[in-house]
Amino acid sequence: MSNCARGDMSGSPHIALFAQAGMGHLMPHLRLATILLGRHCRVTLITLSPTLTTAEAAAISSFLSTYPEINHLELHLLPDDNGPDPAITDPRFSQFARIIRSTHLIRPMLSSASPPLSAVISELYTASQIAPILIDLHIPHYILYTSSIKTLPLIALLPKLLSDPSRFNPSCSDVNFPGLPPLPVKSIPSPLFSPGHVFTQTLATASLTFQRAKAILMNTFEEFEKSTLTALNHDRIIEDLPPLLPIGPLTPYRKSRELTPKGDYKTWLESQPVDSVVYVCFGSKAPMGVAQMQELGKGLVGSGFRFLWAFKTKISLDDEYNDEDEETKSEDVRELLGDSVWHENGRRGMVMSSWVDQDEVLASSSIGGFVSHCGWNSVTEAMWAGVPVLAWPHSGDQRLNAQVVEESGLGVWMKEWGMGSENGLVNGEEIGEMIGEFMRDENLRETARKIGEEARKAVDAGGSSHETITKFLKSL
Ligand code: UDP
Ligand code: UDP
Repeated sequence: MSNCARGDMSGSPHIALFAQAGMGHLMPHLRLATILLGRHCRVTLITLSPTLTTAEAAAISSFLSTYPEINHLELHLLPDDNGPDPAITDPRFSQFARIIRSTHLIRPMLSSASPPLSAVISELYTASQIAPILIDLHIPHYILYTSSIKTLPLIALLPKLLSDPSRFNPSCSDVNFPGLPPLPVKSIPSPLFSPGHVFTQTLATASLTFQRAKAILMNTFEEFEKSTLTALNHDRIIEDLPPLLPIGPLTPYRKSRELTPKGDYKTWLESQPVDSVVYVCFGSKAPMGVAQMQELGKGLVGSGFRFLWAFKTKISLDDEYNDEDEETKSEDVRELLGDSVWHENGRRGMVMSSWVDQDEVLASSSIGGFVSHCGWNSVTEAMWAGVPVLAWPHSGDQRLNAQVVEESGLGVWMKEWGMGSENGLVNGEEIGEMIGEFMRDENLRETARKIGEEARKAVDAGGSSHETITKFLKSL
């Protein structure tokens, strides 16, 4: 806890963070909450009840027990009268429908806050529900954008793009934005080309709320994505966009010991030589088919490097996160990944089919590289740790984030690699060779280390992100 948070708080701003479902969306809110707490603010965290997964519920309760000074409110979501829409397979969208049904509960929650709120920070997806209420209550609204700056013009201009299918369709090679380099069509999330898709509709509606927000808080630092930031903030290539405030990387928070995931990987990792281990993790959900996982396993063994592989096999991270019968689980993992990987388990490598503490893993001096799907949290965590990334993106914003990884020098991007489905299998031999090359690249490691140093400078007192937060708080 900061001294300021313990002391007299009478003049402090009171900021509410409205967290979004999905671990990758919740994390940046929790991080920002602790940063604001350390900067003299009263903080209220609003979460959704029920959470999408028990893993999120566990993360929230662990967080609140570590930071009891944070005030917690729950938005109790009303059930969807018609039941879940069978056409909607992603549970987040069903939950989104419940948020829309429960919008009337948000207003009393915000208006009765004591002391009155100085600002509300929400993610883009929920912004369309919250923005009108905040305008009415005269509370400034800030959006916390949880992806790279590179993805922002695409989302901000989505309604315009959708209205011109001759220039925005999957058979174009590039999509052009005035004042920015063209975006390769392959990097654009494919649902965005279907105007009727629930994801596209949600985003297109939400993007209209950008212009009503005071500013957009970005989980990055000024120097990391300088050219896109300059185009948007200085050259104003999208006229009605509010200023982007890079306040990141949002740094990991202190976790209570008894609630962090258990795992023998920690002892193993600590005993490995410096920079010797490649860490492999594709986020909180399962992006990879079984056959591709087996090829990856062969590749890791064949690379000759030590490895820590935290894999997921379920679309819901609950099944990965919760404790299971360890023996049954071991057998499943062995069968899934094959004997060669299993043989190395606990020796030259470690496979984890449960949740690992990624912040802690990346902070370990043994980790020399990170094979990542490039979810934006993972990218910011790699930049914070100064660990180079071998980008193997899958869907959503990940390809654009991978482009940022490559352009910034934080890593290399395997543009032609798919996840074993639409683009075919990447074979183990190729993966092994690439991982070997990546892990031997000392220049890349040095560049990543420097990015880590810059990231630390940015968030330390006097650094660009630190100063941006100071200005933001002064403006409240
Ligand atoms: N994460 C973790 N342990 C795991 C898998 C993921 O701590 O075993 C964390 C990771 O550090 C990151 C978040 O979960 O903060 C995943 O977010 P990201 O944007 O990288 O990917 P997503 O899961 O949203 O695709
Ligand atoms: N999304 C969401 N909840 C909503 C509406 C939209 O999570 O209520 C978005 C989500 O942020 C993501 C997209 O749906 O951009 C699905 O893509 P992906 O599977 O890549 O999710 P992510 O890894 O970013 O959470």
